[in-house]
Amino acid sequence: MERTLIIFKPDTLNRGLVGEILHRFERKGFKIVGMKMVYLNDQVLDEHYSHLKDRPFFSRIKKFMKSAPSIVCVLEGNNVVTVVRQLAGVTRGYEAQTGTIRGDYSLSQQCNIIHASDSLVAADLEIARFFDDKELFAYEKVDLNFVYAEDEL
Ligand code: ADP
Repeated sequence: MERTLIIFKPDTLNRGLVGEILHRFERKGFKIVGMKMVYLNDQVLDEHYSHLKDRPFFSRIKKFMKSAPSIVCVLEGNNVVTVVRQLAGVTRGYEAQTGTIRGDYSLSQQCNIIHASDSLVAADLEIARFFDDKELFAYEKVDLNFVYAEDEL
C-alpha cells in the first residue's frame, strides 16, 4: 500500500491546528502508520530542502522550521501521495484554493501548515529520512466498538 510523509510545520503547532488538520486525513480514510514530534536540525533541513538551497529564502525557511517542534507523520492509503497533495493545496496559502488545507488555514508562502511528499520516489526517501522501520506500524483497522459488542454477547 502506498505511503507518504507529512510534516506538521511549526506554525501548525503554534496555532493549535494539529488536530484539525490530522482529522482531515483521518476523515478521508488514510491510516496513520507512524507519528512523532521532533525538532528539525540544520542537517535534516539541508537534506530535506536541498532543492531550495540556492533560493534567497532558504535561510528563512530553515529558521522558521527550527522555531518550534514539528510533527512528522506517515500516512498510508490508496493513491495517498497524490490525494494528500490535493488536500494540501498549492504552496502559497494566498493562492491555494478554498477547501484545501493551505487554502483554508494559510495566507503565507512560508508558513503553509504542512509538508507533503510530492512523488512516490520522494515519499520513500523522506519516510526513510525521518523514521526507522521499527517506528512504522503495520496493523488492520478494525471497528473496536463492533469487536467489543460481539465479545459481550
Ligand atoms: P511545497 O512545500 O508546496 O512542495 P516547495 O518544495 O517549492 O513547495 O517549497 C518548500 C517550502 O519552502 C514551502 O512549503 C514553503 O514553506 C517554503 N517556501 C517556498 N517558496 C517560498 C518563498 N518564496 N518564500 C518563503 N518560503 C517559501
